Amino acid sequence: MGKIKKILISNRGEIAVRIIKTAKKLGIKTVALYSDPDREGLHVKLADEAWHLPGSTSAETYLDVPKILEACKALNVDAIHPGYGFLSENADFANKVREAGIIFIGPSAEAIETMGSKLAAKEAVSDFGGVPMVPGMEGAIDDIQEAKRTAKEIGFPVLIKASAGGGGKGMRVVENEEEFEEQMDRAISEATSAFGDGAVFVEKFIMNPKHIEIQILGDEHGNIIYLFERECSIQRRHQKVVEEAPSPVVDEVKRAAIGEAAVNVAKACGYYGAGTVEFIYDENGEFYFLEMNTRLQVEHPVTEEITGVDLVAEQINIAEGNAIPFKQEDLKINGHSIEIRVYAEDPLNNFLPDSGKLNQYTRPTGDGVRLDDGFEEGMEVTVFYDPMIAKLITHGKDRAEAIEKMNKAIDDYKIGGIATTLEFCRFALNHSDFRDGSFTTKFVEKYFSPELLKAANEDEQEIAALFAGYDFSQNKGQVLDIQNSESNWKNRL
Ligand code: ADP
Repeated sequence: MGKIKKILISNRGEIAVRIIKTAKKLGIKTVALYSDPDREGLHVKLADEAWHLPGSTSAETYLDVPKILEACKALNVDAIHPGYGFLSENADFANKVREAGIIFIGPSAEAIETMGSKLAAKEAVSDFGGVPMVPGMEGAIDDIQEAKRTAKEIGFPVLIKASAGGGGKGMRVVENEEEFEEQMDRAISEATSAFGDGAVFVEKFIMNPKHIEIQILGDEHGNIIYLFERECSIQRRHQKVVEEAPSPVVDEVKRAAIGEAAVNVAKACGYYGAGTVEFIYDENGEFYFLEMNTRLQVEHPVTEEITGVDLVAEQINIAEGNAIPFKQEDLKINGHSIEIRVYAEDPLNNFLPDSGKLNQYTRPTGDGVRLDDGFEEGMEVTVFYDPMIAKLITHGKDRAEAIEKMNKAIDDYKIGGIATTLEFCRFALNHSDFRDGSFTTKFVEKYFSPELLKAANEDEQEIAALFAGYDFSQNKGQVLDIQNSESNWKNRL
């Protein structure tokens, strides 16, 4: 270890740009990687050097470990930042990087491995103690009768989950005993084909939950601190679209309790680096450990905005072997921050990914407005990678001001040539359930319909306000169907 002089970013798009910005600030040189379709990418323009990975698919390019290590050698790189997605949670990659004498900006391979398996994570965390767990099985299903007994004990509906699952995939809700076997068979075959690992387990299905997660930082000197919570309950297909910090429903006492539970999760796997501990939060305010993401999270900017901490700078500092330069009690929440994810997706057509040329692209600006993006006007959004174009983040003295700034920024943000989630996010922000904080992960299926969005687009807030509070679940049937079968998008976060 020691001072890092040159970082290769094994990623693309907005997160590569984001990492380059901090590296520049710290006087560290950067190397960008680019596939054929990313030749003109903003990250390529901003990095000091760039290395071509021939090909278009992720497997041919940003996932090709030997080619990435070759670039490091050729350009004399001393550290790799993996960003999120791609190789960021691949223990084997972390090992290979370190074996090549390069600093991996992330946790130990062991921590990645333990937390990459939902079952191994549950085991490590429950053995360590001090963390509320979702009631359910401790190991994978190997005896169906026993699994059914557990399901009956915890009470239907239950969730069958793939141990290797990720990106919202590999989950099945079982509403009663009669359908248990059928759903279990389906879950096993889905898990086997999607993740090459058929291990599934049963846990209680929490009705109308919120998704609340804690940002943590740990160093190699045994310090672990939490940087408060992020509220990420507005999701479509179990994927976040709107995030904020702090959560409108978490008070000081609860915040300290969840924060301490998150620190215990990190301790359970000897964690260092930046990480996120996810919890599911029920209607009574009880919270349970879901999983830990052993990397920088897409929604990390809202935490940066309310704490003033540059998380990428801290990741680099920790990777250099230094201690975290502040203590838990030094951290304070300043105001409120909201992030919306601008995906190339059509909310009017079941959020189906879109692609094409950005023939208009005007960025919003203003006090308390931050845009993390990787595109410019005239660039193509391709079908090869995750369709996220940008993250729009606002910071205000309180929640109302952050929302107000976001509404204005959405007005100013002009994207032409492609369908986006921008107007959907406006719809969510101005819904009465979002405003009063009562929204849950069921928000989209409960309240959203393309007709409503069309109407809102025609007459903006007026009509949206008229319909806000109308419960669309009445018309939609299958409220509990949380399957994601039509989406085969990889690397979703
Ligand atoms: P993944 O690794 O695929 O992201 P998670 O375990 O993080 O899976 O869960 C993703 C989302 O699925 C959560 O944010 C939540 O909306 C929902 N979910 C997960 N577990 C449960 C549960 N036990 N009850 C209800 N919803 C759940």
